[in-house]
Amino acid sequence: MPNNTLPSQNSFTSKHSSEELKIDLVKWASENSSLLEILIDAYCVVDLANNIVAVNTAFTVLCGESDRKIRKNPHFNNFIKTELCPGRCPTIQVITSEKSLRLDEVSATTKLDQNLKLTISGVPIFSDTHELLGCLLTLRDVTAESKLQIKYDEKKNDAITDGLTHLYNKVFTEECLSKLLKGSVRTKKPLTVMMGDIDHFKHVNDTFGHLAGDHVLSSVAHILQETIRDSDIAGRFGGEEFVVILGNTPQAGALIFAERFRKLLESTQITFEGKHIPITISLGTSTFIPESVIQLDNAEEKGKQMVGECDIALYSSKANGRNKTTQFEAIKTEKGIDPTTKK
Ligand code: GH3
Ligand code: MG
Ligand code: MG
Repeated sequence: MPNNTLPSQNSFTSKHSSEELKIDLVKWASENSSLLEILIDAYCVVDLANNIVAVNTAFTVLCGESDRKIRKNPHFNNFIKTELCPGRCPTIQVITSEKSLRLDEVSATTKLDQNLKLTISGVPIFSDTHELLGCLLTLRDVTAESKLQIKYDEKKNDAITDGLTHLYNKVFTEECLSKLLKGSVRTKKPLTVMMGDIDHFKHVNDTFGHLAGDHVLSSVAHILQETIRDSDIAGRFGGEEFVVILGNTPQAGALIFAERFRKLLESTQITFEGKHIPITISLGTSTFIPESVIQLDNAEEKGKQMVGECDIALYSSKANGRNKTTQFEAIKTEKGIDPTTKK
């Protein structure tokens, strides 16, 4: 069977000729025309050879062809071409499966519009003696809604991401942290928060210019995004400050991750307008171990506390010469006190 033709009439075993079946189908369409007319969507009745036998005005408007032209040259594919490969034309799908179908947001082309999005629904039509005659297709033009949805998705994304680095913004990262902490309690898997702050970033701006600084920020964000797992969350918390939520990561794993990222940044050649800009980062981590916690009364508070602990650990990395990783738990053990207040 050639690709762009329907299965031949012989594919459907029937004791009636195709002409007889077609007469039955035309009769069905005319008997149901008043019912079909109330459909707001475009509809067409198509026979087993994919020829249109009846349409409503909305169909002629959709495909930009007159009723007369459709009658003269009635093959469905002459009027609407869909992204479905020709051999899988919607009418064929209904006819061959003898079941109803619904296809959402199918890309389609008509004489009038090359970029349509259609929701296509189809039902098979049977004779009184249960013989398959053809199908009824309704076609809803959802092009405008589809474009609106894309715009909405873009806006939604803008609201949760940072424009320069495309990492999540602070508010969304904090929301994720609360949710992931609750998940960590449920699954009894540890969770680590890591905070990073680029060293002497002011110097980068002063030496290479603000645009170079911006380029460094987006480069660091890109490297970070490439380093984390898909399930981890990376956010920009402020100017040159990043926070990463590492799910299912204990203290030892967190140190391995942080050091790998720190060394990678140190060895990466970031260049702007031909000039190499050396970069290092200081890191602080805090790990939540949910073993004995049955539920978190205030996950938001816990998240804030962990970010505060990262900040303390990060401050320690800066104080000890920068380009370092410090774990909050290590400072706690070292000092034998609870260093929850930053000096
Ligand atoms: P430290 O090692 O102690 O972190 O020193 P630092 O210079 O990195 O820190 P400081 O807080 O003194 O300076 C941060 C600089 O980051 C100052 C600010 O102008 C710059 N900055 C903040 N946001 C942006 C941004 O979006 N683009 C650029 N280019 N610079 C930014
Ligand atoms: Mg800094
Ligand atoms: Mg800073």
